[in-house]
Amino acid sequence: MYREIYETLKKNFKLRNMDVEYFETLDEAKLRILSIVPVEASIGIGHSETLQNMKITDALLERGNVVYDKELAQNSEECKALKKKALLTDWYITGSNAISVDGRIVNVDHSGNRVAAITFGPDRVIIVVGKNKIVDTVEEAVKRVKNVACPQNAKRAGYNPPCVKLNRCVNCVSKERVCNSLSIIEGQMDCNRIKVFIVNEEYGF
Ligand code: SF4
Repeated sequence: MYREIYETLKKNFKLRNMDVEYFETLDEAKLRILSIVPVEASIGIGHSETLQNMKITDALLERGNVVYDKELAQNSEECKALKKKALLTDWYITGSNAISVDGRIVNVDHSGNRVAAITFGPDRVIIVVGKNKIVDTVEEAVKRVKNVACPQNAKRAGYNPPCVKLNRCVNCVSKERVCNSLSIIEGQMDCNRIKVFIVNEEYGF
């Protein structure tokens, strides 16, 4: 059944100038990343539970890539500097809060660094998602990011907007709001820029 969904999804992304590849496991996706990203490339990493499970930052650093990943920061100043450097890299690798079978990538961000890099800056972008992030339509994707991803991400990061307690979005204007930027990637000008790697396992929120 998932195979049929993948084929439809791939066709719809292709119409929007974005590629989709499928992997049975996260390790297979990791090997593919290591095979297509050159060792001499600079790489930005967008925070993602999926990528943390993959340990892609360690693998890239070990083989000699320059990697800007905010998780390597020792303090908030370093964190901000790494986020800024990641905006002008050769490649950007991240996860996503939702992708829709109709061909959209939907994300919310607290500070906005990840949605900025996916939108413009790095020459190439790889977005790795588990099958739990796939929904049918862009409307369902927005609903997912607000009602599923946001409460869990807020809790993980130690913020307490109303959705953490209610487990649903109430369109708050809390100072603790974690969804300050909502991004919908509808397509790409450059057909080689965005690749979506779908893993046939469940990862992240
Ligand atoms: S607007 Fe507020 S309640 Fe809704 S998802 Fe964002 S942080 Fe949560």
